[in-house]
Amino acid sequence: MSALFEEEVLSVRHWTDRLFSFTTTRSPSFRYENGQFTMIGLAVNGKPLLRAYSLVSPNYADELEFLSIKVADGPLTSKLQHLKVGDKILVGKKPTGTLLVDNLLPGRNLYMLGTGTGLAPFMSLAKDPAVYERFDKIVLVHGCRTAAELAYADEIENKLPNDELLGEEIRAKLLYYPTVTREDFRHRGRITHLFGTGQMASDLGLAPIDATQDRVMICGSPAFLSDITTLLKGMSLKEGNSNEPGSYVIEKAFVER
Ligand code: FAD
Repeated sequence: MSALFEEEVLSVRHWTDRLFSFTTTRSPSFRYENGQFTMIGLAVNGKPLLRAYSLVSPNYADELEFLSIKVADGPLTSKLQHLKVGDKILVGKKPTGTLLVDNLLPGRNLYMLGTGTGLAPFMSLAKDPAVYERFDKIVLVHGCRTAAELAYADEIENKLPNDELLGEEIRAKLLYYPTVTREDFRHRGRITHLFGTGQMASDLGLAPIDATQDRVMICGSPAFLSDITTLLKGMSLKEGNSNEPGSYVIEKAFVER
């Protein structure tokens, strides 16, 4: 049996010249947990060319959604960025990943910190009823260079609060904190700084981060993960995994090649 589903592209949205997203059909037997990633790609010269991608769509959705970078000379994304409705896309049957609510201890506030395409897994988690059952506040943080790169901002701010299934929970618990580094915006600066200095919690009217009560999920560039992990360890937060839930979990948004 093949390790890949073949899905059809249903829509494509270009956010900037470096960022796009697309939706596809979903084979009914494809199962995943919110926050996970899977391998996706294209058949190139008859062989699958695959890369890891987080699932933007929640695991109960009829369609799959992905958010993608466009790397000019990237083996996959130099081609993937030209996707059109009706094109075929390969989707790996074995999703995996550490950004799972079960890998965290129960707690007060859950911070989901994403840079660039690192927002992707948090989009599915922000639509997961289990997240709202387990935490008082869910802080969805997206760090980018420019405001145009804040993908899904409109959906987060205007559609999620009116969601048929979760709207009430979302209105009561979800706090969106977009921040940009290279132009003026309502929140400006690096996530590490805003989180570490306590400015983020203060801007949101939340109590300062408390290692015994608050939990963190992180997805971003290798440099961001390294900086934020150092910060969290310094605050005495412990990393969680599937054997032992902890106070924070991390996932790379990409690897440097
Ligand atoms: P590659 O040869 O894979 O990458 C070339 C270079 O481009 C890399 O060295 C890096 O410097 C840069 N780069 C690659 N991906 C990114 C990125 N996302 N943001 C900024 N710079 C990047 N990519 C997504 O676009 N969306 C996702 O949801 C996503 N999820 C991932 C989850 C995991 C666990 C991992 C490990 C990677 C994920 N990636 C994601 C990265 C993805 O697997 C590919 O690297 C990306 O699609 C580029 O593929 P490529 O073949 O064109 O270039």
